[in-house]
Amino acid sequence: MKFVLATHNPGKLREMSAILAELGVEVVMPAELGVTVDVEETGETFAENAMLKAKAVCAAAGLPAIADDSGLCVDALNGAPGVYSARYGGPELDDRGRYLLLLSSMRGASTRAAHFACAVACAFPNGDELTASGRCDGAIAFAPMGDGGFGYDPVFLLPEKAKTFAQLTEEEKDALSHRGKALRAFAAELAAYLKK
Ligand code: IMP
Repeated sequence: MKFVLATHNPGKLREMSAILAELGVEVVMPAELGVTVDVEETGETFAENAMLKAKAVCAAAGLPAIADDSGLCVDALNGAPGVYSARYGGPELDDRGRYLLLLSSMRGASTRAAHFACAVACAFPNGDELTASGRCDGAIAFAPMGDGGFGYDPVFLLPEKAKTFAQLTEEEKDALSHRGKALRAFAAELAAYLKK
């Protein structure tokens, strides 16, 4: 069975393919089918954005489509940057600019608590929908540490490991991360759906 993954990121495709291959599911990118869909992420939640993307790609490709959306939610900033994580501070900032802005916005904050969240959505041509989510709790470090990963990884601290996401191996991060948890929860949902 063939599914489309609504992403241009080959890393996400590899990660999803590895998890879903066990279910006999093949995952391809929209570009491999000659499909281009640019979906505006106008939702207020990760789940809404993931479903917007999954439905648009499903309609364009005529195949079941899977999409994810994720971001960092910081307690002291009332959940920001949240669904705006990729755009925090405006288009002129890169990943480093965004996490440095985050650190400066946190000066004097009474709590450093934060979590990453990830939603996965799947839309089928017959209108069926599946959703799954994952969350990883941690704290915002006082300074960046480590050079692995991407995005806010250097400032996202796992207090129980005394390391940031950027100081973990890919396997360690995958076992704990919001995306790893959401993808595994989604694989379980899909397995149950396909059995029906
Ligand atoms: P998207 O879900 O690919 O749209 O990612 C949203 C944004 O959230 C990314 O651009 C990053 O800024 C941030 N983000 C999501 N997951 C992670 C992560 O595992 N580490 C660091 N940043 C992340």
